[in-house]
Amino acid sequence: MNKSHKVVIGLTGGIGSGKSTITAMFADLGIDIVDADIVARMVVMPKSEALKQISQHFGAQFIQSDGHLNRASLRSRIFSNEQDKTWLNNLLHPLIRQRMIKEIDQSTSSYCLFVAPLLIENNLQGIVNRIIVIDITEKEQIERTFLRDPSSRDEVRRIIASQISRTERLHHADDIIDNNKTDLAEVNKQVIILDQSYRKLAMK
Ligand code: ATP
Repeated sequence: MNKSHKVVIGLTGGIGSGKSTITAMFADLGIDIVDADIVARMVVMPKSEALKQISQHFGAQFIQSDGHLNRASLRSRIFSNEQDKTWLNNLLHPLIRQRMIKEIDQSTSSYCLFVAPLLIENNLQGIVNRIIVIDITEKEQIERTFLRDPSSRDEVRRIIASQISRTERLHHADDIIDNNKTDLAEVNKQVIILDQSYRKLAMK
């Protein structure tokens, strides 16, 4: 459980489950959002201390000419080398965690929504008070991801296989948003009900 006074609600779900869509609904209700993917990119911004250390450790070829990290090259380097992967995780994970906590502390809405695709996989349960899991069938997940970004269905299946299973994710849920229906007004109703319960929780 997080130690700051803020109520933090974690939102997670597999690829294409509707995290961005549902996050926008909470934002429309005036809730501050902290996005784990954005934080992870910010800690390696051009000129950052972490980027300097990556360049010293792996070589300047991992920094693009525009000063940004070459994520694709670094990903393939650590994919085949467990030691490199551990070194990078030891550098980045504490920085990412610190920055997430700082952003959560700076939020001013009645509670804060912390959006993390890999909330459970990366053991981030400790920084939230409750976890919302967005639930969707695998068939729908593949179709929607494919429609948004026509990569191959096999590629989408591969990413789903690398994430925890639908059953295991649901096992960690305090609250569930059913995003199978295509009627977004119905999904928004679920968001409004949860928002009201979190506002009450934040007042306690
Ligand atoms: P990713 O993990 O890939 O970033 P995500 O979990 O953020 O995805 P979204 O981008 O919100 O998911 O949704 C995936 C696609 O499905 C988008 O094109 C979105 O418009 C669509 N979508 C989301 N919810 C619904 C819904 N209830 N009905 C129909 N389409 C939906």
